[in-house]
Amino acid sequence: MSSHAFDEGGLQYCPFMPVFGAPQVMFERGSGTELWDSSGKRYLDFLCGIAVTSLGHSNPVVAKAIAEQATTLLHVSNFFANPVATRAAVQLVSMLEAATGEQGQVFFCNSGAEANEAALKLARKFGGRGRHGVISAYGSFHGRTLAALAATGQPAKHEPFQPMPDGFRHVPFNDLAALEAAIDPTIAAVLLEPVQGEGGVVPADPDYLRAVRALCDERGLLLMIDEVQTGFARTGEWFGFQHAGVVPDVVTLAKAMGNGFPVGAVWAKRSVAGVFQPGDHGSTYSGTAIATAAVSAVIDEMHRIDAPRLARERGAELSAALRALPHVTEVRGAGLLLAMELDGVDAKTVYLAALERGLVTNAVNATALRLAPPLTVSSAEIAEAVAILRSVLEEVAS
Ligand SMILES: *Cc1c(COP(=O)(O)O)cnc(C)c1O
Repeated sequence: MSSHAFDEGGLQYCPFMPVFGAPQVMFERGSGTELWDSSGKRYLDFLCGIAVTSLGHSNPVVAKAIAEQATTLLHVSNFFANPVATRAAVQLVSMLEAATGEQGQVFFCNSGAEANEAALKLARKFGGRGRHGVISAYGSFHGRTLAALAATGQPAKHEPFQPMPDGFRHVPFNDLAALEAAIDPTIAAVLLEPVQGEGGVVPADPDYLRAVRALCDERGLLLMIDEVQTGFARTGEWFGFQHAGVVPDVVTLAKAMGNGFPVGAVWAKRSVAGVFQPGDHGSTYSGTAIATAAVSAVIDEMHRIDAPRLARERGAELSAALRALPHVTEVRGAGLLLAMELDGVDAKTVYLAALERGLVTNAVNATALRLAPPLTVSSAEIAEAVAILRSVLEEVAS
């Protein structure tokens, strides 16, 4: 996309801070799995704004809930209650209780990073002075705010912003011995993704997660699971930790929770949530009516369509089709959060060629393409996307 995209208001330079790469396409409109760019060209969206629009673009149920809330009540602050946030919170604690068997409490925020910030503060308050450390994994991604960045196990992302906040330690993912060796009396919690999304769609070994749970119990540490990318049915269960049958103490959520409306949440078991006292944490927008209207609509609609079943069924279909493609050496992930590992072809090249042919994906690293279509994707759309990928892979490799 050339710079003239910004010329409309007479501006001769890009008005955005240069933190993102140059965008390739200007999208104007979306419906279900489909997107249209400013020239009217149609695309299939197999990325969903990074696993966000799981119910498809312009989902009518979510759109109606947001529109009706916009003309009823947007926001009142946390000096007061509002029925919309209350309903969404009850729905959320019910879902987590069904998944964990634990009663819990939620705090609403506005993003995944904020959800993790709240979890990290909860861990510090839980641990007490001198026991504020958090262990997370290399390859992890927990957000861009300073503490969430410190928890993120990607040293290159820390470098320009050193010194990082104190108390963060990283260990190789899926390596129990390394985790055990990193525990000392300063550690309060372990923070892990059930599938490392930004790290290349790398699932946690279920045995590893179970062993980490046992270790946390033994050492009195919190097990905090970052479900920002995996939560809300994306992996074929409501939450990614359910694949391993572990019960976390703290769960962070965002992305698909608002289907594109910015919102996040942290959930904790009541005994853990109760370490927060009034004044310990907050946000102007926590539980704002407009965002929680979107959350309730997403939860209602995902239950109505049985979103985990759709993720499992369409995910099995998509992964089987991807495995049959040329130059694909591995398909990994769960449900509809998948990556295909490419042999001898550059993922960025494949991404660009697919985009040119009307398929939105993501080169999650140099050798793997990430796919996260809406959970409402049809079999016909999967076939269409796979045909595009086949043509691209045949051509790029020749
Ligand atoms: C996207 C993501 C985050 C950060 O969420 P933001 O809404 O971008 O702040 C945190 N954790 C995981 C696992 C993510 O995928």
